[in-house]
Amino acid sequence: MPGKNVLLFGPPGAGKGTQAAKLRDLLAVPHISTGDMFRYHIKNNTELGLTARSYTDKGKLVPDDVTIAMVKDRLTRADVKNGFLLDGFPRSLPQAEALDRMLSALGIGLDHVVNIAITDEEITKRLLKRATIEGRADDADAQVILNRIATYKSQSEPCLAYYRPKGIVRDIVGTGTIEEVFERVMKVFAG
Ligand code: AMP
Repeated sequence: MPGKNVLLFGPPGAGKGTQAAKLRDLLAVPHISTGDMFRYHIKNNTELGLTARSYTDKGKLVPDDVTIAMVKDRLTRADVKNGFLLDGFPRSLPQAEALDRMLSALGIGLDHVVNIAITDEEITKRLLKRATIEGRADDADAQVILNRIATYKSQSEPCLAYYRPKGIVRDIVGTGTIEEVFERVMKVFAG
């Protein structure tokens, strides 16, 4: 069976969530989005939500220990046995290293890192547009968007250099329509 342990990577606004929703149906694996998990906790005013909010509101990463513990807990569920689609995790080198440890403890590895690339101008344009549609607080403020781009470059992008030597990074051009991008993503899983 072709590998279905997949990580979706890319800057905020690259379309990870949109592509993940389509890919989940194609691969029939759970979509695990740390951003969605944090938003769920924030909405429900859990203790984790209160902690997370003080970071998400500023466009900063939630601390690694908190994020890693949340993902570790999620990966113990039986539904990840036939594959998974991780979206928005890892976002830092310590998270990437922690993920490797979690996966090797489960006796599995990553098959594909689908890296969706767009320009900084496109990021800002898309996030401001999304703010008017989804009403996400962290999309509405130009300074928070700039923080998220800076955070991506300084903390998240280094994960790509971590994965490249492993030969699992699949680079996808993220511009164009949702369908055009999905065509490119599907090629990773063809044959
Ligand atoms: P997203 O919906 O993936 O853009 O995530 C929204 C926000 O949740 C991010 O700006 C971060 O504040 C937080 N977040 C999501 N995933 C992570 C992660 N892997 N590590 C730390 N913070 C995260």
